[in-house]
Amino acid sequence: MAQIQLITTGGTIASRPGGTSSDVVADITGAELRAGLHDPLEGIGLDVDDFCRVGSSAIELPLAFALARRIAEHLARPDCDGVVVTHGTDTMEESAFLADLLVDSDKPVVFTGAQRSADAPDTDGPRNIANAVRLAASPLARGLGAMIAFEDEFHAARDVTKTHTSRTDTFRSGEHGKLGEIDGGVVSLHRRPVLRRTYAPARLETEVDLIKLAMGTSDRMIRAAASGGARAIVVEGFGRGNPTPAITAAIGEIVASGTAVIMCSRCPEGRVRPIYGNGAGKDAERAGAIFAGDLAGVKARILACVLLGEGADMARLREEITFFGG
Ligand code: ASP
Repeated sequence: MAQIQLITTGGTIASRPGGTSSDVVADITGAELRAGLHDPLEGIGLDVDDFCRVGSSAIELPLAFALARRIAEHLARPDCDGVVVTHGTDTMEESAFLADLLVDSDKPVVFTGAQRSADAPDTDGPRNIANAVRLAASPLARGLGAMIAFEDEFHAARDVTKTHTSRTDTFRSGEHGKLGEIDGGVVSLHRRPVLRRTYAPARLETEVDLIKLAMGTSDRMIRAAASGGARAIVVEGFGRGNPTPAITAAIGEIVASGTAVIMCSRCPEGRVRPIYGNGAGKDAERAGAIFAGDLAGVKARILACVLLGEGADMARLREEITFFGG
């Protein structure tokens, strides 16, 4: 019998309107979530670890780091075959990618949650948990790293993002596509993720900022981030990874002072590449910016937090980010 560990953290899947107000809050225990499953999950044992009970907009990097460590602790037990984490959807992709980077195990790690709260008659939570547990118990899922299982599909942590604020089919992997699906409880695997490496930092660097550019964005935010103590700044620029000329002009000084600048794109698909002059991407590269391929800004930030937490210098940051950029 496969033995799966369910770790619960809160989120909509564990939320309902509170006693005296209509505010939806995470107050449902792991044991209640377990008891609410309709699927008997024959042949699979399921233990519950009530890790925390919060909306994922309140999860901070140290808590996500502690969660990744808890996942690794469970997987280190010979009697644990895989882990399922229930988590709010808002920042699930970040916790999942962090676990992907930190958990050095072939055993499956599957994140899931819900878009409809637990009191909704048509909540998607119980089915998502059952699918995630079946995936975590499947031999097909070994060696795939951390994944998100949602709405009968599963996705690689590096590629997946929440795309819709409220629909249940919110998680997508853009042009890379899903890893596979869980149809009637049966797992089908379509592809394997290849951009995977694990790290063992003693802590995460939390001082890593992300700035999304809009037409004409000035250098005010990037200079404030640098002078405010950021160790790295991820810039979601235009198209191929083009900052505004004002941002590009600031990058040289910021990099020279020891703060890394990582270029991503505000486009949801495609890779950044230094091509354009006149204060755009080519000049940003000359100024020392690291180009992050097609890694999304939030994922590049998590990677930088891990690498800087390990004490990486600028050259190592460049080499690892370039690898993950694909
Ligand atoms: N606000 C919720 C959270 O991320 C949304 C959800 O779980 O779907 O915790």
